[in-house]
Amino acid sequence: TERLLELNNLKVSFFTNNGEVQAVRGASFYLNNGEVLGVVGESGSGKSVTSMAILRLLKSTGRIVGGEINYKGQNLMDISEKEMMKIRGNEIAMIFQDPMTSLNPVFTIGYQISEVIRRHQRVNKKVAREKTIEMLRLVGIPSPEERYNNYPHEFSGGMRQRAMIAMALCCEPYLLIADEPTTALDVTIQAQILELMKELKDTINTSIILITHDLGVVADVCSRVIVMYGGLVMEEGTVDEIFYNPQHPYTKGLLESLPKMEDGQKQKLIPIEGSPPDLSKPPSGCPFAERCPYAKDICREKQPSYYEVEAGHKAMCWLLSKDK
Ligand code: SF4
Ligand code: MG
Repeated sequence: TERLLELNNLKVSFFTNNGEVQAVRGASFYLNNGEVLGVVGESGSGKSVTSMAILRLLKSTGRIVGGEINYKGQNLMDISEKEMMKIRGNEIAMIFQDPMTSLNPVFTIGYQISEVIRRHQRVNKKVAREKTIEMLRLVGIPSPEERYNNYPHEFSGGMRQRAMIAMALCCEPYLLIADEPTTALDVTIQAQILELMKELKDTINTSIILITHDLGVVADVCSRVIVMYGGLVMEEGTVDEIFYNPQHPYTKGLLESLPKMEDGQKQKLIPIEGSPPDLSKPPSGCPFAERCPYAKDICREKQPSYYEVEAGHKAMCWLLSKDK
């Protein structure tokens, strides 16, 4: 397996009237070809900002202030906006929680997907239309020839999400970034959409970054997981390592807050008390210290390094230090 994407010490800040907010404070992780990587964390952990930075689509006050985003061996921060436009939507595509942010309500679904195809590929309208219908069929839209002419509001929520997946995958991207793609959907549809993404990953040969606040979602779909908190990666490992041998107290907290089924009854969740750090005044120590049941003095003073548990499994926590 080859590295498709590698982030080195990525730092992203927003420059607001109230000063600098350090949304991402040095994130490093990689994605291999053909892999599905889960990026898990609460809102405000920096996971969505990281994905927008990869696409260079940060809001106007946001800026990449450090690090590298190596995609197929080139740093995306070194290329022109013109080159970036060729990559965006074509080689790297994105789907969001709310399909309405990508779908334009005044154009038909079919028109919008065929326009994406025409923008990136030298094909005529007829070929683009055929490809669109093929994509709609692939994502499970019934009677795609007729549905081609529907407007977004004529689709159900689940169908809109399928249409958005069709639009994201119509150019057969190397990388799909899916940010909370199923959060707005009910549980049954959620499972169907995740299953669909899993299938399409192999059909289209796309690597996926799946961003979610829900650790439950990654278990089925991902091979590796990173857990983000306070703009930093707290733990990285395979799905099995994260679920069966979690090392970071935040990862453990996330696992404990998953709903469990016992005797056919859903058990009450144990939420993690407290709230994430204010990243306009980032803590000098461990970002989780305020909420961590194991916090010691050193945790509040100094940010821990990464400690390797096994090859490929590491966590940022003083508890793993040999000389603690
Ligand atoms: Fe908790 Fe300290 Fe580990 Fe941070 S470094 S997670 S505060 S034990
Ligand atoms: Mg988000």
